[in-house]
Amino acid sequence: GKRILVVGGVAGGASAAARVRRIDEYAEIIMFEKGPQVSISNCSLPYHLSGIVENSKSLVLMNPDSFKKRYNIDARVNTEVIKINRKNKTITVKDLVANSIYEEAYDKLILSPGASPILPNKVEGINKPNVFTVRNVEDIEQINNYLKENSVENVAVIGGGFIGIEVAENLRLAKYNVSVVEFANQIMTPFDYDMVQILHKELVDHGVNLVVNDGLAKIGDGFIETMSGEKIAANAVVLAIGVKPETRLAEEAKLEIGETGAIKVDSNYLTSDRDIYAIGDAIEVYHRLLHKPTRLALAGPAQKQARTVADHIYGKTNRNLGVIGSSSIHLFNLNAASTGLNTRTAEVAGFTYDSIYIMPTDKVGLMPNSNVMHFKLVYEKPTGKILGAQAIGKGNVDKRIDVIATIIMLNGTLEDLKDLELTYSPMLGTAKDVVNHAALVALNQLHGQYREVKVSQVRELVENDACIIDAREKKEYEAGHLKNAINIPLSEFRNRLAEIPTDKPVYIHCRSGQRSYNMVMALENLGYTNVYNISGSYLGINLYE
Ligand code: FAD
Repeated sequence: GKRILVVGGVAGGASAAARVRRIDEYAEIIMFEKGPQVSISNCSLPYHLSGIVENSKSLVLMNPDSFKKRYNIDARVNTEVIKINRKNKTITVKDLVANSIYEEAYDKLILSPGASPILPNKVEGINKPNVFTVRNVEDIEQINNYLKENSVENVAVIGGGFIGIEVAENLRLAKYNVSVVEFANQIMTPFDYDMVQILHKELVDHGVNLVVNDGLAKIGDGFIETMSGEKIAANAVVLAIGVKPETRLAEEAKLEIGETGAIKVDSNYLTSDRDIYAIGDAIEVYHRLLHKPTRLALAGPAQKQARTVADHIYGKTNRNLGVIGSSSIHLFNLNAASTGLNTRTAEVAGFTYDSIYIMPTDKVGLMPNSNVMHFKLVYEKPTGKILGAQAIGKGNVDKRIDVIATIIMLNGTLEDLKDLELTYSPMLGTAKDVVNHAALVALNQLHGQYREVKVSQVRELVENDACIIDAREKKEYEAGHLKNAINIPLSEFRNRLAEIPTDKPVYIHCRSGQRSYNMVMALENLGYTNVYNISGSYLGINLYE
């Protein structure tokens, strides 16, 4: 049988080893893992901090013994691969417990060494014992133990990406005082600035001290200092400012490294050596929409790549469709998901695009637990090709985003999305699902039957004394409204047309965009040529301010 060696025993590595076994009962498979465990659920690590995952042992899904018994895979933990000898087709291995070094020969080598947390250099105090990163079970146990043993109250999380936000949420659930410091002007870059305000608010509403536009400058005793000079109480610091692909082995073996700094692979995940494959966080992948290499440190792609590699070793070539970047996160009472491009990435890539932002309910309004879903759809002009979407709400945003991800993978357009026949029952959704609804609004916009301005433009409109109509009922208006907005409820406007000017642009909003959308369409029908819906409406405007 073939001798197949795997470097890394978690998402990519363990999946590849198991798939090879399913294809070939005769292969000799050895998996090397430098950490003390294989097959851990790294994505579940943050949930140990809150106790949602009570016992850290349950984060380990399989052990070397079960790998041997179930799959006849030799999984060696505490064993680091330190060198690839391409000429002889061997690897040099270090047993970290026995402190011994040996070699193993391969027919095929699969690299899935992952990515390691980035550590900021030049930050005073970075080596203190109360500074942590999150990658494996030991890390999360160490944080938990430190916090408990030292009765820590204040924790600072540096970085507002997925890992930082999940860590912050779980620490907060465990009643710590949590600060999040993010260098950019927003957390969670898959989301546009307008959408992410909802997540900012969710953090703040749950008592997280969110600091954006600022970075870590110094770690002192009981506090951190930011670049702007702010002092924040912190007896422990979790660094989550991103990950860098583990390329050392590959680089030293002179395997080609790509323009993104990750290992370069072909469509079958072969490196520049025809007997060495690489998968997971360590490689760069092809972006289907941007048509260029990118890095995508997510578990789903790593597992797919693992399967592809095993298949390719046994002669099956892969139809590599590239990635679009689909992800989701749960944050306190909200779910958020996104796929494809947002307006920022579409802009940078030079697309001609537009977007709509709607806020329908996720279920029939009179049903229990019916909630507003914030939904943004980005599409190409004039083709109507779907480029991406973002959804945030209490309900099933992931279902909606998965539909969009599917349609992007099939090169779908707004017309396709409008026609999708989806399920409906009042407790689960609405007859015109959020995604169908988004397609209809976007089609109206694309065909010029409907125009909208972004929530980010509202301040300027107000300052320039533009004609803004508030289409909510009088009571709602009186409870709070935009400066100088005229209140003409949707229920009254047909009798009050004389008050709506025809000689200048008119901008209309209501609470969630539903009533203003109807008024815009009606006015268009009546011959008004200069009416705009304010996307995001009053809910969005308030979040944005
Ligand atoms: P890993 O799973 O990291 O495995 C690499 C392994 O290789 C490591 O255990 C490492 O010790 C070992 N290794 C490295 N070098 C060597 C060597 N020389 N010799 C021996 N062993 C070596 N993704 C999602 O899609 N959704 C999520 O919700 C999500 N949440 C996450 C939360 C956290 C806290 C973290 C850390 C990650 C999360 N991810 C999530 C990302 C996901 O876990 C990774 O994309 C995925 O694990 C990548 O798989 P991989 O095999 O490339 O690397």
